[in-house]
Amino acid sequence: RAHLDRIAAVDGAVHAYLHVNEAALETAAEVDRRRAAGEELGPLAGVPIAVKDVLVTRGMPSTSGSRILEGWIPPYDATPVRKVREAGMIPLGKTNMDEFAMGSSTEHSAYGPTHNPWDLERIPGGSGGGSAAAVAAFEAPLALGSDTGGSIRQPAHVTGTVGVKPTYGGVSRYGSIALASSLDQIGPVSRTVLDAALLHDVIAGHDPHDQTSIPDPWPSMAEAVRRADVSGLRIGVVKELDSEGVQAGVRQRFHEALELLAANGAEIVEVGAPSFEYAIAAYYLILPAEASSNLAKFDSVRFGLRVTPEGGGTVEQVMAATREAGFGPEVKRRIILGTYALSAGYYDAYYGSAQKVRTLVQRDFDAAFAEVDVLATPTAPTTAFKLGEKLDDPLAMYLNDVATIPANLAGVPGISVPSGLAPEDGLPAGIQFLAPAREDARLYNVGGALE
Ligand code: GLN
Repeated sequence: RAHLDRIAAVDGAVHAYLHVNEAALETAAEVDRRRAAGEELGPLAGVPIAVKDVLVTRGMPSTSGSRILEGWIPPYDATPVRKVREAGMIPLGKTNMDEFAMGSSTEHSAYGPTHNPWDLERIPGGSGGGSAAAVAAFEAPLALGSDTGGSIRQPAHVTGTVGVKPTYGGVSRYGSIALASSLDQIGPVSRTVLDAALLHDVIAGHDPHDQTSIPDPWPSMAEAVRRADVSGLRIGVVKELDSEGVQAGVRQRFHEALELLAANGAEIVEVGAPSFEYAIAAYYLILPAEASSNLAKFDSVRFGLRVTPEGGGTVEQVMAATREAGFGPEVKRRIILGTYALSAGYYDAYYGSAQKVRTLVQRDFDAAFAEVDVLATPTAPTTAFKLGEKLDDPLAMYLNDVATIPANLAGVPGISVPSGLAPEDGLPAGIQFLAPAREDARLYNVGGALE
């Protein structure tokens, strides 16, 4: 009830939620009944959670921030949603996001932007700005997000929260409305590293509904936080991402966080990742290619919106009118980019080259992790910028993800942990740690040591 009251009080200004679950109190009563009946529910039973609108949720609208899915109520739960329900957690509602998770500011949502609770004129990051803002504004203690190129970590950075992109395959993508299937991962958003770990432990694990799901069991992330110890840990600072291009205060807090870890026994070294500078270019071919294919299913027949041209029309005309009305400008831009990159005659030059760069980025990680246990970078180059500032400049918007995209290309896990407020503007910044695939526990160890 406290969270519903908080949402009623502040969400008019923040706009973190697209839908508030009116049945939350009934679910809470049901959890009490399950507990009274002796069911073992785990440590997060009774804890409310906000769910990014990219995850289909039984009985609640699930739009992925798009008009084309307006009013669609899915008949089933995405696996991470099913798991939080089974753990006795209480879904509070669906959070705002850039349309189909394309963006870094939530301004591409078809339902209007979310505002950063630290300064309502600034962006909360994206695409998962709603989940991050809900947690930062105490409208939810925890949230689920999705990260294809940084959409959990960059919003965490600009809102002073914790965000984790697990190893690719660590958390099921079943029921996550796909953006780019080879890059997408579902993960936790929270105010502390321990909270993120407790949620990670609930949602991780094998799911036969997702063919990329890793079958092996996972160690407890919460245990990694509780036993956090960085003595002897080798941390590699990626020198290409610790540069003049990063805002001075973001860089200052980044280095202070590293000094703290060094004071606790970690060894800080510099490492190179020469292919990272091509990661954004490769990502913006691979992502639109996969997205254009994934979004082909929104054809006016199977889901959501259907627009019939005046006087009727052929099937093709109905599809065209529906997609014209249902998709926003950023989605159309990426569908055009993606279909072009995949078209006969251009496939090798664009998509094929991008896949080769992807392999080079993976090799940079392999080489770095032969030397160090984890990598560190500032999570994003700047603190939260003003709403509207980058909306008309897609390339400026894309540059926000320079430090987060390499992890998605390589499938490795990443965490963003608050590093403090940048002195020049008093806004939050984050430090990102990256670990080898399946070594998510290392992120919780090093993040836990900072808490
Ligand atoms: N900002 C990136 C993009 O626009 C990342 C999106 C994401 O992780 N979903 O593609």
